[in-house]
Amino acid sequence: MRQVDHFPNSLGASGSGSRTHQIWNPSTGEVQAEVTLAGRDVLDRAVATAKRVQPEWAATNPQKRARVMFKFKELIEANMKPLAELLSSEHGKTVPDAMGDVQRGLEVIEYACGIPQVLKGEFTQGAGPGIDVYSMRQPLGIGAGITPFNFPAMIPMWMFGMACAAGNAFILKPSERDPSVPVRLAELFVEAGAPEGLLQVVHGDKEMVDAILDHPDIPAISFVGSSDIAHYIYHRGAENGKRVQAFGGAKNHGVVMPDADLDQVVNDLAGAAFGSAGERCMALPVVVPVGEDTAERLKEKLIPAIHALRVGVSTDPDAHYGPVVTPEHKARIEQWITTAEEEGGEIVIDGRGFTLQGHEKGFFVGPTLIDHVTPEMSSYKEEIFGPVLQIVRARDFEEAVRLPSEHQYGNGVAIFTRNGHAAREFASRVQVGMVGVNVPIPVPVAYHSFGGWKRSGFGDIDQYGTEGLAFWTKKKKITERWPETNDFGGGDGSNAFVIPTMG
Ligand code: NAD
Repeated sequence: MRQVDHFPNSLGASGSGSRTHQIWNPSTGEVQAEVTLAGRDVLDRAVATAKRVQPEWAATNPQKRARVMFKFKELIEANMKPLAELLSSEHGKTVPDAMGDVQRGLEVIEYACGIPQVLKGEFTQGAGPGIDVYSMRQPLGIGAGITPFNFPAMIPMWMFGMACAAGNAFILKPSERDPSVPVRLAELFVEAGAPEGLLQVVHGDKEMVDAILDHPDIPAISFVGSSDIAHYIYHRGAENGKRVQAFGGAKNHGVVMPDADLDQVVNDLAGAAFGSAGERCMALPVVVPVGEDTAERLKEKLIPAIHALRVGVSTDPDAHYGPVVTPEHKARIEQWITTAEEEGGEIVIDGRGFTLQGHEKGFFVGPTLIDHVTPEMSSYKEEIFGPVLQIVRARDFEEAVRLPSEHQYGNGVAIFTRNGHAAREFASRVQVGMVGVNVPIPVPVAYHSFGGWKRSGFGDIDQYGTEGLAFWTKKKKITERWPETNDFGGGDGSNAFVIPTMG
């Protein structure tokens, strides 16, 4: 059995490691490897190493740190295919989709290649008589990242790319369901010239996460995963005085206005609702046609498009999507379809009980379409995270703005229309963090930033871009005066007890 160890594997040399977690191949339904689950003792060793390595890395000039990021970018590009194959074998997404996962992380590494430019501080000459004010961004020391199963390359790179470029050491705790790619990334980072111990990968479940949350030498934690855990991480981390950003689940709506190009919408929805088997935090699992006529026309076009979807093993070059991640997750998705039916939803296309010929043990769920879903239903309120598209019919534009705005999640939303005014109104009024206008999955590019609202994001700083930089650094403000003489006595002393002003 293949073993996935911590990185470096000397971290697990003694002490913890007796507990393990199975890693599936979701396409075959077989266990392909196991990962060691550890706790505080392994973390302590990782922190000790990080503390030793980080000061010298922080003192390395930013241009030299950038060169490591450039080399890392090169190595990822050279290893794109094997990374994507490894990723898809543990996650189940198709290989081209896995390449997208690596690519969207790589784009943040590309941003981090410009770290000397973005790290520059502010400067004001002559803020007062003979006084200059300037600011600098300094690394926090050791950052930690706790990541979900659904983007095992992209999300770790979003975090450690920014954190390490800014001068921090980083400890990554990836999902125990697909931990191999994060380890491979850490190996490539060393090959790129990062000092050994700058980026370490520790494996575990709640025990390791709690150890990170309570560790006195880890000042900042970035988390991505489900909302209850995100809230827990935010709460416990903040209680321990840490800086925490914690991104949670989602239920993104796609509003379809009567004037939308329905062929384009159906094409976009097929990819956004069913791509990666719906296991994306920016998937579009809810479509909101405005008006009965739009709903009927859309449904008529959706049905054949969904029937035409090809479900296959993750290596099938013609598959639109592959299996879901675990047998438990398959059961959970099918249970949600049953719940939706019991709540009064119309199961138009039923993906329950789907098997793929020749791969009967794989964790496949057929594409599912449910109509007449209403806001009271639990299957609408909660995240299903599978290849399931729900239709929630809205009477008018106002209701279409209200539905995503009042939902507990507020990650992404899209509007499909040819009407610029409607789009502008929608974008301005909807209570959701990321909005697409005729764009189904509006994940902002690497030089903007990513983050949802409400139960999709706890904390106030987004991922990557200048926001990521702000999260992984602390800002120091210096007010400086160089008197002409050696007299530091404060002039005649008459104002020494008054709050200094620049007058
Ligand atoms: P998850 O919450 O089960 O796990 C995320 C991480 O938390 C993993 O590293 C896991 O080991 C750890 N964890 C699990 N249980 C824990 C516990 N009880 N205490 C402490 N830590 C625990 O999430 P997942 O199933 O891996 O990922 C899917 C979820 O992530 C979905 O809800 C999805 O919407 C969300 N997600 C959100 C975003 C975003 O940016 N908002 C992005 C990707 C995924």
